[in-house]
Formats: sequence, C-alpha cells, structure tokens
Amino acid sequence: MTALTTPLPRLVGDRTAKALAKLGIETAWDLLRHYPRRYGEPGRLTDFTDLPVGDHVTVNAMVVRTSMRSTRNPRTAMLDVTVSDERRELLLRFFGGRGLLASREKQLRGGRVGLFTGTVEEFGGRRMLKNPDFRFVDDEEDTEAAALEQSRPIPFYPASAALPTWRIRGAVQTVLEPLHEADVPDPVPFSILQREKLPTLLEALRLVHAPGSEEDWRRGRERLRYEEAFVLQTALAVRRAEAEATAATARPARAGGIREAFEARLPFTLTQGQQEVVAELSTELARPWPMQRLLQGEVGSGKTVVALLAMLQVVDAGGQAALLAPTEVLAAQHARSITGLLGPLAEAGMLGGAEDGTRVTLLTGAMPAAARKAALLAAASGEAGIVIGTHALLSENVQFAELGLVVVDEQHRFGVEQRDALRAKAATAPHLLVMTATPIPRTVAMTVFGDLETSTLREIPAGRSPIRTFLAPATNARWTERTWQLAREEIDDGGRVYVVCPRITSQDDDVEADLLADTPDPADSALTADSARTADSARTADSARTADSARAAGGGRGGATPARPLAAVDEVAALLREHPVLDGVAVGELHGRMSPEDKEATMAAFASGQVPLLVTTTVVEVGVDVPEASVMVIMDADRFGISQLHQLRGRIGRGARPGTCLAWTTAQEGTPAMTRLRAFEGTTDGFELAQVDLEQRREGDILGAAQSGRGSSLRLLRVLTDTTTIEKARWDARALVDRDRMLLDHPALLAAITEQLDPERAEFLDRA
Ligand code: ADP
Ligand code: MG
Repeated sequence: MTALTTPLPRLVGDRTAKALAKLGIETAWDLLRHYPRRYGEPGRLTDFTDLPVGDHVTVNAMVVRTSMRSTRNPRTAMLDVTVSDERRELLLRFFGGRGLLASREKQLRGGRVGLFTGTVEEFGGRRMLKNPDFRFVDDEEDTEAAALEQSRPIPFYPASAALPTWRIRGAVQTVLEPLHEADVPDPVPFSILQREKLPTLLEALRLVHAPGSEEDWRRGRERLRYEEAFVLQTALAVRRAEAEATAATARPARAGGIREAFEARLPFTLTQGQQEVVAELSTELARPWPMQRLLQGEVGSGKTVVALLAMLQVVDAGGQAALLAPTEVLAAQHARSITGLLGPLAEAGMLGGAEDGTRVTLLTGAMPAAARKAALLAAASGEAGIVIGTHALLSENVQFAELGLVVVDEQHRFGVEQRDALRAKAATAPHLLVMTATPIPRTVAMTVFGDLETSTLREIPAGRSPIRTFLAPATNARWTERTWQLAREEIDDGGRVYVVCPRITSQDDDVEADLLADTPDPADSALTADSARTADSARTADSARTADSARAAGGGRGGATPARPLAAVDEVAALLREHPVLDGVAVGELHGRMSPEDKEATMAAFASGQVPLLVTTTVVEVGVDVPEASVMVIMDADRFGISQLHQLRGRIGRGARPGTCLAWTTAQEGTPAMTRLRAFEGTTDGFELAQVDLEQRREGDILGAAQSGRGSSLRLLRVLTDTTTIEKARWDARALVDRDRMLLDHPALLAAITEQLDPERAEFLDRA
C-alpha cells in the first residue's frame, strides 16, 4: 500500500481530513491535485492593496507593533497587532483570555515576518483580520531547514478558515514525500515527455508543491497544463474514433428527389460559402459512418437553408431528420419557415401536394394533447420526413421510424449528453450537425466540441441591409423622444420595432427569471447564479481568483448598480400605449412566461404587421426572422452580455430595410459594461465581438456554458490562451488514438480519463 491508496484520515489525521473534505478533497490523489493558487516570492511581503472585505486571505507580512487593551470583562482582553507590507498597514485583532494574549504578544514581536490568515473585515474605515491564524517560518526547530525554507517560494493554497494554507501544505508533503516514480503512473507517454523535455508526473507534483525556485513551479505547471490538455483531447479523440468506427446508414444524394426540386424553387442563389458547406455535408452524409459536424455562422448567414438541404438529402435517401431548437418560439418559427420554403414539397399526400414530397411536423412539450399525439404518430410512422422540436424531442416516448440526421440549432443548451440522447433514438447512429451563431475561438471549439469537425460561414448573403447602432444615454430626454419618433416613422413606413427589456414585470425582483428561461447562453444570463456561486466560494476559499470574480460579477456586468429599477416589459408596454407619438400603434408583449400558443400568436401578429411594435424580453434573441423588422431598442443594454446584444441586433436588418439599433444605457464611461457597449456600437462583426466578450468573461463561463462537468477537470489549463499547448495535445492525442483506439497500451491514460472526466463511472469502478 502506498501513500496514494491509504485513506486520507490515516495519513493526515481525522481533523485535517475533515477540513480537507470541506474543500472537496477526499483522497490522497485529490490532495496532490490541489495545486497552489499562487506563489509568494521568498522574502517578499504580500501587497495589501488588494484585500477585498469579505475575502478569506493569507498575507506574508511584518509585525510593526502590538498593543494590549482591556475589555469590560477583567479576565479577557484585546490584542491589537499592526502588520505591514512595507507600505500599508493592516490591523490584526485578537480576543481572548489575558494569559493567552500575553503569550501571543510575546510571539508577535516587532520585525518578525510570518503568514497571517483570516477574513478581511472593515472596522472604522480600516481593514482588519479578527483572530487570524498565523505561522512563522523561523519557528522551525531546525534552523538549517528554516533557512532553506525561507529561500523558497511560498505556495499559497486555496484554503479555508478551518484549514490555513500551511496546514494544507503540510498535508500535501505527508502524501508526496514517500512516493516513488512507480507509485505514480503517468498518463502522458514517456516519448512525449522526452520530446517536450517535460518532467514526469511525480516530478511535476514535487515542483509545484515544493518548488525550490520560480523556475521550478513554472516547469511543473507547464507539464501539468499539458497533461490536462492531453487527457481531455484523448477523451475527445476516442469519442471521435468511436463514432467513426460506428456504422451509420449512408444517405447519398439522389437525382430527381425532393432536394433537387427544392433547389429549383429557392428564391435566391446560395453564397459561395453556403455552397461549400452544402457540398461538404453532402459528401459526409453519403458515408457509412456518422457525420459529426459543427457549423458556425454569423447571425443571418443562412445556416437554416444549408441544414434544410442536408435534411432533404436524408429524406431522399429514405431517412428522417430531426431539428432541435432551444426555445418553443424558435422551433415554431423553424417549422413555419421551413414549411414555407418547401411549399408543396411539404404537403405529401395532401391535395395539391407534390407527389414526391414529405411532411414537416412540429413537436414541442407544451402542445395540446391531440396535436402532440398526431405529431408523435407522424414521427413514429415515418410519415414526417422532418420533425422539428425543442427538448421535448429528447423524451423517451418520442420515436422515429428511421432517424437519419439530427440537426441541433444554436448549440448552447445542448450538452454532449443531450446530443447522445437524441442519437440513441436511431437504430444505427444518425448523422449529426450542430449549428451555432456564436463564433467560438478555435481552441475553445477544440476543447468543447473536439469530437466534431468544424465548418464556418463567414459571408452574409448579399442584399442584406446595413445596421447602424447608437448608444443612447437613457437619462437624456431628447434621445428617448427621438427613439419613439423613429419607431413611429418606421412603423408608418411598414417597418416593425422591437423593444427589449431585461425584466418581465415591474414586480420582479428576479431580473434574470426570463433570461435564464429563454436565452440559450447561460454564461451571459446567469448573473444571479454567478454571484451566488461567487459568494459561496468566497466563504470557503482563500482566493485571489474569488476576489476577481466577485468584482467581475458585481461591477462588471452592470457597471454600476442602477439607481432606478430596470425596464420591465409590462411597464414599458403600458408607457408606450399611452405615448402620444405612438398614438394608434398596436403594442404587443412577449416573454418566456407566456404559453407557447400565446407566444406563437404574438409573433404571428408582429410578423404580419398587425401589431408592429413588440415589447419583449430576450426570447426574441435567437434566430427569430421577421424581414420587415428594422428598429431595435434595447433598454438597459448594459445588463446584457455581448453575444446576447449581437444576437438581438441580428433580429433586424434581415430584409430590404436598413436597420437601426438603439442601445439605452446608464453605464459610465470606463466601466467594463461600457467597454462592451462601445465594442457593440463599433462593429457588427461577430468574430470581433466574440473576442471582446471572451476577454471579459471567465474561463468557467466559457466551458461551463457549453459543457458542464467537463470543465471541472481543468485546473491549470486556460482554454483561451493556451492555444499552442492545446493544439499540440490534440495532435498527440489523435496520433495516439489512431494507433491504440481502446487505450489498451496506455492504462494510466485510460484511468486518468475515467477518473478526471467521468466521475460517475470512476465511482462505479471503485464499488466493483
Ligand atoms: P442564420 O444563419 O442566422 O440561422 P437564417 O438561416 O435564418 O440565418 O437566414 C437568414 C435569412 O436569410 C433567411 O430569411 C434566409 O431565407 C435568407 N437567406 C439564406 N441564404 C440566403 C442567400 N444565399 N441569399 C439571400 N438570402 C438568404
Ligand atoms: Mg438560425
């Protein structure tokens, strides 16, 4: 039995083990993978400028002076100790019995340097740590060891009040010291280590946990970072290889089929980019293994028609296609527009329908029972060649006669599991096409969708009208009046106007209720969840990163807490109905709490022009297509993320009318919110905006948004910046999987994949 298999309480003691468990550390392995968050330079004091109130912090500081104070109780006292970082001072205040405090005072002599840890409080305008825990390096009995210790970087671990960083360090050393190379199987093959001149896993663990110099921990981290990328890329390569080894029904294009008939009917010619992707899809559908493709394309780049051509090819070859949309509104719209595009081709078996046609069926969770039953039957019998729906398509009672292709529109809400659930509905694996309008940087795509091949539509079809964007100060009456004047003019001229609000009703405290329910991008909308999470971790972790995120969540999104309440759909609609400039204009309301039929009816009234002004939440964000829509007013625009704003703006300028987007805001110049809005104002290029967005967002958001659990295995790897590492790892992983698809010759790698990426399965193995 090595230190790695010994239960943690036996190694470090029950009390420490219990405190470690609170940090999520259950095993010796977990402990070794609990890397220091940062390192203090030997002899360098911690800068006090960045000690946010409420954070649990550890500082390396020098004692300046102490002063004992009496309290009302004669047996207790208060000891004030002032420590310094050589520029600023911080107060440490100890409470307790006089005897104890007297011995503290003796220990805390002026001039001594040590580590102090506690939660930062605000006291009379000064920052203070109450009853902090502390430790002096030169307390060590062995002076030689102490001297050595003082020359090394100080590792700072993510810690808790119950378990200061130096006790974690002690526990780590207990586990690490007795280990030999043979105890620590390395998931990275030796040949790669040699080529890259990287240390082994054990060496790397020693380098990060007990570095002798800065160079040491940097080298250790580099290796561990590569390992993270490599393990993840191997898992993805295996997934991809498994899919390629899976049989699928080949669905080659057929001459004289629906697809050809449809192409002949198309009212426009495909752009060069569309043609290329269509050809790519056509070839891959004709192969006897499943296509696995991600289609990225700017808002309005015409992804739907590309997908439709692929779906028709499959229908021509005797299969069915399922189109999965993130919201009811979008599913209904797809059904409507696809039925429209197909015309008689979608009316097989009906009077006047094309002989060789098919049927399009909508299937959503909230449909009336009878319609739902009919839709289920159409899917199961194969009568419907194209089935369009929401998550409802994933439910167990949905069956297909011959599912040949799954298309997922706006991928954000669909994780790997859901992709799999739908694919499991076919006897042989169906082909898969995932579409996204949010440009994803290459390395993120490689990490999150590493099992998919990527195509990109960069071009926007000609004839699209330009959109002008203006930031409007929400407090300036001239701007606001001008906005409604413009709305009126557009409507009189046959246009349509969207007014987007962050809240549904004025009574809502929960601003995000609707955003969470209806936007496809949780990273952008989960403001509340985000700050809750931050508060949570702030309580347990001693963390620079926590402090960062607290600031990002608090001040980043909104810029400043707005003094007035955020715009709500009901209020704004009421206001506009009364507004003299809009006299006689019908004003509609749309939000995620409406029933699907109501939403559908409202969208139809808007599309037809019956209700030309629509006050709405972000339900209209994705994919909604009304060509006459030309004006978009976004209220409290600083409350929305960049990709949301970009998606919203994509709703206008889709037809012949030039679009105008007015983003109302109270954000101050120089805030992150304003940086976002200025970028939004300055360009309509989604790739450029995505870059700004990514710079402002945190890693966890990016991975978490598209792929829950998996991101958690990444401790050191930064998907945005570690481009070279990820690319190299991907290359190595694919080469290895080509030779050894089942990883039979790489047991340590296989174990790492199951442990790190598939905790449930690992648990299962433990039990077996
Ligand atoms: P998105 O990529 O955002 O999903 P859509 O597929 O909704 O974009 O396409 C936007 C609009 O452009 C639709 O009305 C569609 O019919 C139209 N469209 C698609 N391709 C072309 C093209 N090559 N030329 C002109 N219009 C096109
Ligand atoms: Mg679309």
